[in-house]
This record gives sequence, C-alpha cells and structure tokens, in this order.
Amino acid sequence: MGSISDEEMPAKKEQIKQKKCRYCISEIKGNGAECTTCSKGACGNCCKSNKFLSLNIHNITAIPQSSFSKNEYEQKVLKDYINYQGITDLKKEILKTIVKEKWRYKGKELKQNDILCEDCFKNVWNELLYEYRKSINDSLPKKVKERSNCWYGKDCKTQAHNQDHAKKYNHVCPNTKT
Ligand SMILES: [Zn+2]
Ligand SMILES: [Zn+2]
Ligand SMILES: [Zn+2]
Repeated sequence: MGSISDEEMPAKKEQIKQKKCRYCISEIKGNGAECTTCSKGACGNCCKSNKFLSLNIHNITAIPQSSFSKNEYEQKVLKDYINYQGITDLKKEILKTIVKEKWRYKGKELKQNDILCEDCFKNVWNELLYEYRKSINDSLPKKVKERSNCWYGKDCKTQAHNQDHAKKYNHVCPNTKT
C-alpha cells in the first residue's frame, strides 16, 4: 500500500514544474505554488495577490456567515464557548487540535504547512470550525449538548432559515437520511 504512494510522489512533482499559472498562464517556476486541495497552481506573482498561503499563515479568526451551513445558532454556540474559555486565537487553538487528531480534508491528511488557495481555505476553515465544534461538545452547556440530533444533521436545509428548529436540534452531526 505505502509503496504505491511513494512511487506516485516524484511523478506528481514533475507535473507541477511544467504547469501553467491559473491566472496569468505564465509557467510556474521555483517561486510558484500549488494548492494542496484543488491542485491548481499559481506563479510567484499571482501567488501573492491571490493568497496562496500555508494553512497556518492564512489570516482568519472569524466564524463566517457561511459556516455551519449558515446555522446562526451553532455559530453562536461556538462564539459563546470561545468567549467563555477566553480563547483569543481561535485558529491557533484549532490547528493544535488538527495536529493532535490527524484531521483529514477530502480524504487527505491536513498539515499546518499545506499550501491552500483562498477559495479552498474558506472551505477548509468552515470544515475545521465544524470539526472543532464537534470535539468540544462535551464541554458545552447542558441545554446545548442535550439536544437530540436532527435527522439531516449538517446537511439540513431548514437550519439556515428556521431559528426555532436550529435551536431545538443539534446539527453538528452526520446526515442519517442518506
Ligand atoms: Zn501568474
Ligand atoms: Zn485550491
Ligand atoms: Zn434540521
């Protein structure tokens, strides 16, 4: 099993060298980068302007509107927890957890120095918030952690627009209807 991926690695690196930048179509040379997730590449100049950065350099501390499938109640649960625990650097806190638990994104293990384009970073960050929220479940207030799970879990469409539903059921759980 392990030997297959070892053999694939060098060939993949060769391909990167011949790749063209997704923005300006110049060839990607030594100072360029490739996004670990979508494998689109950028030349050195475009890397800077399009925020091809390693996971730990991307600058974010917020809990975006798009996180938790737009469920504002779950966003608030996490915000309250962070305030209560006095966590000032959420990203640092989350990255610590990733390293500990070997978290995977789209089947690949995620590392702090993985290069991600801005679009992928936004998706990864939302996933990280979800995973982190799952990991702290036991430390949440009773009224939060003792709710029963919504059948549709994180894929529930109702949670984004029905506040009573979002509050009544837990949505940080898998979809059991598929
Ligand atoms: Zn370019
Ligand atoms: Zn990407
Ligand atoms: Zn639901």
